[in-house]
Amino acid sequence: MDLMEFQAKELFAKHDVAVTLGIVANTPAEARAAAEQLGVVVVKAQVKAGGRGKAGGVKLAKTPDEAEQHAEAILGMQIKGLTVNRVLIAPAASIQEEYYFSFLLDRADRQYLCIASVEGGVEIEEVAKTNPDAVKKIAIDPGTGVDEAKARAIVEEAAFPAELTEQAVTLVQKLWKVFVEEDATLVEINPLARLEGDVLEALDGKVSLDGNAEFRHEDHQAFVITDETDPLELKATEKGLNYVKLDGQVGIIGNGAGLVMSTLDVVAYAGEEHGGVKPANFLDIGGGANAQVMADGLDVILGDDQVKSVFVNVFGGITACDEVANGIKGALEILGDQATKPLVVRLDGNNVDKGRAILDELNHPLVTQVDTMDGAAAKAAELANA
Ligand code: GDP
Ligand code: MN
Repeated sequence: MDLMEFQAKELFAKHDVAVTLGIVANTPAEARAAAEQLGVVVVKAQVKAGGRGKAGGVKLAKTPDEAEQHAEAILGMQIKGLTVNRVLIAPAASIQEEYYFSFLLDRADRQYLCIASVEGGVEIEEVAKTNPDAVKKIAIDPGTGVDEAKARAIVEEAAFPAELTEQAVTLVQKLWKVFVEEDATLVEINPLARLEGDVLEALDGKVSLDGNAEFRHEDHQAFVITDETDPLELKATEKGLNYVKLDGQVGIIGNGAGLVMSTLDVVAYAGEEHGGVKPANFLDIGGGANAQVMADGLDVILGDDQVKSVFVNVFGGITACDEVANGIKGALEILGDQATKPLVVRLDGNNVDKGRAILDELNHPLVTQVDTMDGAAAKAAELANA
């Protein structure tokens, strides 16, 4: 789960990382009230995307009037395709210099990585292109992590100004604690600002939390913002389904993540022959493909207006094909009139003959059986393009 800036800052504050919390406002009037309380402020769009400053989503306001006007302009704005529903009203800071600092999981090298630069404030990818020497990448051994000595080595390598060394060493260790104790895969501060009086402070924050560690962090649930979550994904989560919304027209249901992934590829490939249709989602119903799970899965997929056809691709294993076929039959009964889009079903594996026979006998007008994965993908793509 990715956090918004105001949430990242809350997490930083919890671990005593130097940060100033502001006030979140959902309306211009709330922005005005916050500015009346805080004085000179920065009005900041809260969306899960970088480059808000460049897009006009970060504005200085000297008076409550100005804060209200900026909030009026920023609320409802689109930044990288995301609508701004809330702004953070943060006390304005007097910035002397802007640095960049992050810890992240480096999957390719199977380790953690620290990226630091005294050329912060702008997108770090840009700095890496135009001035690669200014971006320091420091490997971190997951076994030993970041103790004081390592923090010192990082600060030295990053070449932060000498008068900031002690603050930086402390901040680096605290940020490492955020990274480890919160099970984050990314913690990023850009800008890490040098304020008047040589004070270091995180003026922006980006945090990604590892979903696999959710069970250890009940408090992270509070970071879920319902109105910022795709309604279909929300519904799928409630039903315990492993669903990811994509942007195509062919709904996908399969059992096993590997099979579903390859189904996405096969459908995308088949779609090239059929008007460029693409997979509409990832949905792995796992081992227990009973009627209720199948109905829940179909219900979520059919709720996607973009979906024109559904491809059910199942390889019978422990859950045999006849159980899956009965699941599909039961799901169609449960859904009744709500099932409106053609289903292409490909069954193979354990008890395939029984499974196919059940669907043959059902003879449902929406269901087409195709015996091969490629054939079924082509059929589903054709129907989506009809
Ligand atoms: P981003 O563009 O999405 O990364 O948003 P940031 O929070 O990083 O803000 C962009 C830029 O706005 C920063 O690099 C700063 O230059 C500026 N900025 C952000 N907060 C403040 C502030 O409190 N005071 C001042 N003077 N500038 C700020
Ligand atoms: Mn930033």
